Order: sequence, then structure tokens, then C-alpha cells
Amino acid sequence: MPNFTDKMKRLERVRQALRRRYGEALPAAVTHPVEHAMRAILSEEATTEQVEQAMGRIRAHFVDLNDLRVSRPPEIRDVLGANFPRSGHKARVIPRLLDQVFKQYNSMVWDFLEKMGKIESRAYFEKLEDVRPFIAAVMARDCCGAHAFPVDNDVARVLGRLGILNPAKESEVQMQAFLERAVKASRAHEAHWLVKYLAEELCVVAAPRCALCALRKACPSAVLPSRGKKRAKQQPLSVRERRRRLRAQLHRSLTESGSDTAAKKARPAPRRKR
Ligand code: SF4
Repeated sequence: MPNFTDKMKRLERVRQALRRRYGEALPAAVTHPVEHAMRAILSEEATTEQVEQAMGRIRAHFVDLNDLRVSRPPEIRDVLGANFPRSGHKARVIPRLLDQVFKQYNSMVWDFLEKMGKIESRAYFEKLEDVRPFIAAVMARDCCGAHAFPVDNDVARVLGRLGILNPAKESEVQMQAFLERAVKASRAHEAHWLVKYLAEELCVVAAPRCALCALRKACPSAVLPSRGKKRAKQQPLSVRERRRRLRAQLHRSLTESGSDTAAKKARPAPRRKR
């Protein structure tokens, strides 16, 4: 059973291996906190392309964010599309989040975050109803500079398969608390981004493409194509047995050719009892 230090080291090796594969990940400045929160919600189990297409459909369909706030979840789900991952859940959470913040701050810009501290901002989002802890972690980290490691289903799935987290037994809050202890603040954003990228590219929900994964040799859940059964290694024959078989072969060929005398000479010696 790996302890905290083992998992911490494993996590660092994962970060380094993914960095070699995908390159350095630099945090981007957040220019629109509301859209940033929406992207964080939409990105769970979805690709970046799916998220951007969904954002485009939302912009085209709703007059503005306030219109989105007062819209009913079925309408938002239709805009996201039937095949959009977890569309029903996301269509319910997005207007709930916008509405709760609006009722408190009368704002669809969320400039109140500029005055909030790291701890205060995280606590604020954590208190909102239907808003998962990973959204609070994303907002506190990206808008207020807090040290946070958001754990959505993607991060839980990848790090669960790698044996670093146990999503079946640990809550989202517990997993985040562990990762925030295990990863330095200066590396947390990059580690999170790299894990999310792997989740999107290869370690997908249904069938991970382990054969292409940079972590396949160290991953306890890697599913690799079998190379077929190895042939049983043949034991070398003893000299005595080799001679016996040769004589038997010679006897057979002489018998078939009709030479009785030569065949008698070549008849294999019976096996000796030991
Ligand atoms: S080896 Fe497979 S299961 Fe493990 S992290 Fe890579 S893609 Fe996911």
C-alpha cells in the first residue's frame, strides 16, 4: 500500500513524464471570470474542441449571460447538444451558479473577485449550492492566485488509474486536499493541466488508449494489446535420444524402400529400463 511520500514521488514522476511528452504549461490570464467558470464546468469529460463549440452555440443562442442565467435547464441542454458529455448536469449547474452570484453581487462580470483574497474566494464558491468543490478551486486559483488542485471527474479518473487517488473511497474535497499537500504551488497548475490534457487525449472515459500513453510502463491500469502466447521453451534432446530418433527415422525410410537387411541393422534399440 503506497504511503503519502510514495504517492507524492509518483505524482512528480507523472508530471515530469507528461511534461516531456506535452511540453511546458503556462497559466493563462483570466479576462472573463464568468466564462472561465463556464468553461471549467463544460470541460469535465469533454474535449477542448467540444467546449469551444458549446460556448459558440451558447453565445449564438442566448442574448447574453443574463439570458442564460434565467433560462431553463432543458433549453440549455438542447443548446449543448444531446451528445455533449453530462449535458443535463451541466445545463442545471451553469444557471444555478450564475443566478446565485447575481443575487448576491448583482453582477454578470464578477469583478468583485478582484477584491477577494485567496481563501475568501474559495470559501465563497464552496458555499454556493450545486457548485462542486473543483469549480471553487479553479476560480480561487485562476482569479485570485490561490494554491489549488481542482479534481473533476477527469483528474480523478486519470490519477485513480495511476494508483495515486482512490475516487471510489475519497471525496472530491479529500482528493483536492491530498494533491494540494503533495504538489508544490509552483507546479500545481502545470501538473493539473497535464493530467487534464492526458484525460482528454488518451486516458478517456470509455477505452483509454494505453498503447500510446507515456505512462503505460508505470501505470497499474494500463491495458496493452497482448502479443500472443509465448511458445513453451523446448528442452534440448539428450545425445542418446537424438541417436535413437535418428535410427528410428532411418529404419522407417529403409522399411518403406524394401531393404530388409539394412532395415534390421537400423532398427532402433528399445528404451532401456532404468
Ligand atoms: S496507461 Fe492507460 S490507464 Fe494508465 S494513464 Fe495512460 S491511458 Fe490512462
